[in-house]
Amino acid sequence: MDYFPVFLDLKKRRCLLVGGGDVATRKGRLLAKAGASLRVVAPEISTELRGLVIVSKGEIFEREYQASDLQDCVLAIAATDIESLNEKISADAQTLHIPVNVVDSPALCTYITPAIIDRSPLVIAVSSGGEAPVLARLVRAKLETLIPASYGKLAQIASQWRERIKTRFDNGDSRRKFWEKILQGPAAELMMNGQEDAANKFIDDELANDQSQLTKGEVYLVGGGPGDPELLTLRALRLMQQADVVLYDRLVSDAVMELVRRDAERIYVGKRRNEHAMEQENINQLLVDLAKQGKRVLRLKGGDPFIFGRGGEEIELLAQNDIPFQVVPGITAASGCAAYAGIPLTHRDYAQSVRFVTGHLKSDDTNLSWPELANPTQTLVFYMGLVGLKEICESLIAHGRAATTPVALIEKGTTQDQRVLIADLNTIAGVVAVNDVHAPTLFIVGDVVKLHDSLKWFKTN
Ligand code: SAH
Repeated sequence: MDYFPVFLDLKKRRCLLVGGGDVATRKGRLLAKAGASLRVVAPEISTELRGLVIVSKGEIFEREYQASDLQDCVLAIAATDIESLNEKISADAQTLHIPVNVVDSPALCTYITPAIIDRSPLVIAVSSGGEAPVLARLVRAKLETLIPASYGKLAQIASQWRERIKTRFDNGDSRRKFWEKILQGPAAELMMNGQEDAANKFIDDELANDQSQLTKGEVYLVGGGPGDPELLTLRALRLMQQADVVLYDRLVSDAVMELVRRDAERIYVGKRRNEHAMEQENINQLLVDLAKQGKRVLRLKGGDPFIFGRGGEEIELLAQNDIPFQVVPGITAASGCAAYAGIPLTHRDYAQSVRFVTGHLKSDDTNLSWPELANPTQTLVFYMGLVGLKEICESLIAHGRAATTPVALIEKGTTQDQRVLIADLNTIAGVVAVNDVHAPTLFIVGDVVKLHDSLKWFKTN
């Protein structure tokens, strides 16, 4: 390790910044953010930097640098483009044992500044020891996406509990276990969702319990999107990586399942048409039972859990049993398939509204309001419609939708196996009959389908 990482408390402490241009202003911004009192020295100083000095109750010397500027300073930064001046500032500061940084000149520095991920009070610093600053910045960008913005909130609330938890657990080991439980469990999720009161109550209850009873589980009802794992939300991914057990069904793609925590237990609950590995009531009950065992249960569903996903039923029983849960939306099949097939669901010229419809027709009672679906300026997306495709197209035509209305049938949308078949209301059933089509599929009805040819970008045929 070439450098020793530290976090300096600069609040109200004098820091010398020599330079008044863009680079100096950037440094000034950071120093001011850390509460430092700025002493800025340069013949010309940017307006923003002047403002920062005023806010930080600092001082401005609009002239050349002189050695006495270092007096009373705890830190120095040289941000000028005059090499000899930078060298002098570095030498002067080192004589006085004041840590000094010269921007972009590692040899003149006694400390270097890292790339920062700021989730105050949680701050992460990344450094390549000045050897590869761009790499350090790329690492920072990666961490930025991995670490939820709400971690700052989490750290804030945690700090409010620190003393009480310290008093409650005098043994360091049990204290650490308690913190792990809090920071990875329902309390943390509540804090990050902004439900501060509920989080505090939860911690309060946990503290009141005997330590051996700290086993309340929770359920994450997560939308896994239509197939392409890159369409997962950051929150979905985070919860997938912390769950102890996952209940998934056929719509969740293998590529998405790959991202679930390696050692999580996996339970397949089925749901192929006419094949239910587990009845809905049993799934609902299993979620409750697993959570009661103290597990973090991931209920991973295809697309969005609240769109033809029976997500509402699953959380109803959780609510009745007082089990903490959260719902994470996913990209629904209609959005995913439409985007990857180059078919905008609405368009100024073709469709002013869009409707997601279940094509799962119950015999003799189709339950669909056909006259409303006949409106030519409305796009229709049929889920679960493959079996009823012919009947649906005939009914639409019978209720006045033009037989020439274009239709796109999208098979395994957003996956590497995506296929798009284009026809119209009159001909689509025939086209599907001669192509070996496999679930999951959905179809889009409306003039927007005409755009497929010019807008398609994803590998389709
Ligand atoms: N909750 C899911 C829908 C569940 S209903 C969502 O929001 O997407 C199941 C139906 O979704 C399937 O019958 C099919 O019509 C559609 N579907 C799901 N994933 C699909 C995919 N990758 N390609 C095409 N259709 C899909």
